[in-house]
Amino acid sequence: MQTIKICNVIPGMMNAEIIGIIGKIITKEYSGKKGSGKLCSLMLTDETGSVRVVLWNDEISRVEGAKEGDALRVRGFVKQGMFGPEIMLGKEGFAEVTERGPDKIRIADLREGHKPDVRAALVWLFESSPFYDICPKCGVSLKGGEYKCVAHGEVQPGYALRVSGVIDDGTGSMRCVFFKENAERILGADAEKAKDIVLRKGVTELFKNAQLREYIFSGRVRKNAIFDRIEFVVDKINEVDPVKEAKQMLSRFSS
Ligand SMILES: [Zn+2]
Repeated sequence: MQTIKICNVIPGMMNAEIIGIIGKIITKEYSGKKGSGKLCSLMLTDETGSVRVVLWNDEISRVEGAKEGDALRVRGFVKQGMFGPEIMLGKEGFAEVTERGPDKIRIADLREGHKPDVRAALVWLFESSPFYDICPKCGVSLKGGEYKCVAHGEVQPGYALRVSGVIDDGTGSMRCVFFKENAERILGADAEKAKDIVLRKGVTELFKNAQLREYIFSGRVRKNAIFDRIEFVVDKINEVDPVKEAKQMLSRFSS
């Protein structure tokens, strides 16, 4: 049987067959008038969209060991759920993992020197003055209160933003540091605007607009010698985009 794209999955279909990349998997117990048991809900995404797949009781064994990032082939009937179409297997349906996705990089496994892309939630920011002095010509940090750049000599200092916080992916958490445009993005204000807010209303006001949510962080893990711990220096922040991720993964599988 031919598979269809997820954007073409419509409530009422008796036999829809799709391949998608597994997103969040939620397994839980239920109990009600008709009895009790277990249900497993997972999001499947391809390059055209996402759809929820719901498995009940014995059906759950078909996806045992499946994890986020694996490709799953599913056939079932489609009904209208609370948040859009949902696929259920029914008697004729099936579900099987057709490809294993790459192992996810987990915060718990990170060590000094790693340069990973980590998908994690930014859960906390430390509220403190985020400004530090930089050379206005090359942007290098000016340390020790001296306004001297190695390349440009004595300069009238400019300033940039530095913010630290905590990221968490469920396997562990880690201190993280954002500089310059990354700090600006997290705070939702460029350096100049941030200065203005802090001067007029204080540091707390600046942090009120911070964007605490899930991102994909690229960067490096370094040792912070002063505090004797490792921390994640974020070089790039990417939005979580399931459709884009699924597209990349599915194209790799089919090549
Ligand atoms: Zn300079």
